[in-house]
Amino acid sequence: MNTVDQVLARIDSVIPHPLDPERIPLDQSLHRILRESIQATEDQPPFHRSSIDGYLTHPDQNLGKARLLPSRLPGEPISVLPSLGTALRIYTGSSLPSGAALIMQEDTRILPDQEIELLKKPSTSLVRHQGSHARKGDTLLDCPSLIQPGSLALLASFGITQPKVSRLPRVAHLVTGAELADPSALPQTGKIRDTNSIMIRSLLLSYPANPVWHGRIGDDRRSFSQSLAKALLHKTDLVLLSGGSSVGDHDHTGSVLEELGFQILVRQVAVRPGKPLILAQKGDTLAFGLPGNPLSHFVCFHLFVRRALDRWVNQPKRPLLRAELLSGAELKTDPRETWWPCHLGNRNSTFTASPLPWRDSSDLSCLAQANGLLRIPAGQEAGSPVEVLPTISW
Ligand code: AMP
Ligand code: MG
Repeated sequence: MNTVDQVLARIDSVIPHPLDPERIPLDQSLHRILRESIQATEDQPPFHRSSIDGYLTHPDQNLGKARLLPSRLPGEPISVLPSLGTALRIYTGSSLPSGAALIMQEDTRILPDQEIELLKKPSTSLVRHQGSHARKGDTLLDCPSLIQPGSLALLASFGITQPKVSRLPRVAHLVTGAELADPSALPQTGKIRDTNSIMIRSLLLSYPANPVWHGRIGDDRRSFSQSLAKALLHKTDLVLLSGGSSVGDHDHTGSVLEELGFQILVRQVAVRPGKPLILAQKGDTLAFGLPGNPLSHFVCFHLFVRRALDRWVNQPKRPLLRAELLSGAELKTDPRETWWPCHLGNRNSTFTASPLPWRDSSDLSCLAQANGLLRIPAGQEAGSPVEVLPTISW
């Protein structure tokens, strides 16, 4: 049986390069990975700008009276400095000529006959100078980097509206099991509600993936094979197969994958929860046979599927967090490496991990509170600090 690390190394080796990048509109690129470094296309600010609402004067202007010049609309450039003894109304962000001095509105008094009194000497420090934030050619974002809302604003400020980003892997999810019913229907006796479909769809939407196909199929081998063949027609990079990965009479995942030309690379992994795990490859397409038990499905997604998604989009490896182990469910040692659902918190600026109770790999009750999986090495007792894989961040 493979260890977790061996399976991760296998995933890395079958995805040696990220997927080809694509250019997409800026408003669709949130949470994508940039595949080019971004340089400033111009100085920022692009021209001298006012940081205040107030008045523009000559830099040698002193306290006292000044005659008001006809005002300009916000956004209208001002190319010439007012001469000594005059002042021009300006607003936050107004474009200013070189050498401008400014005075805040609060430091002036309005007089009759288009005059004002300057109660302070105007200052050049109230100007946001051209290029003071970034110079044309400066590197603004490194490659690779995650595009966040703030990155979108920065790119927009330079007119970069078609960034080059990683293409999202196209993922199909097929759910096997003749015992499964749609959650909206009342299950007949002996049937249970399908929980993996909605869980995987929402996980795929939380990580860098494009869910392109979903199907719920029974346990009939022929229709399984036909559905998988159909799913593969959608330029699928990854197929996730729920259930049927073990050795029962109705577990067809391995044989159907082989029939469709996949080579099986992994059949089992020594992990708890989650032992039956198939990894298979056909050309550029990968398939995971994930255990049907929902808790194992969840753990295998976070441990293995996310690794493949991250490799495809060039997401740098995400480090495990170190957290102080708090009391909670009693942790049991196991010959297999265990990834135990936990609640990650914070105490005195240190991460904490509280183990959550679960009875077996079909027990979903801990998952609503779980935001991490804590690692218990094979055959060892969990000791503080523990390593934790967060399960809620992007
Ligand atoms: P399997 O991996 O197909 O042997 O399934 C293992 C266990 O997980 C069985 O008890 C199944 O009923 C259950 N199971 C399989 N798929 C799902 C699903 N989509 N939602 C909830 N439970 C499932
Ligand atoms: Mg099954």
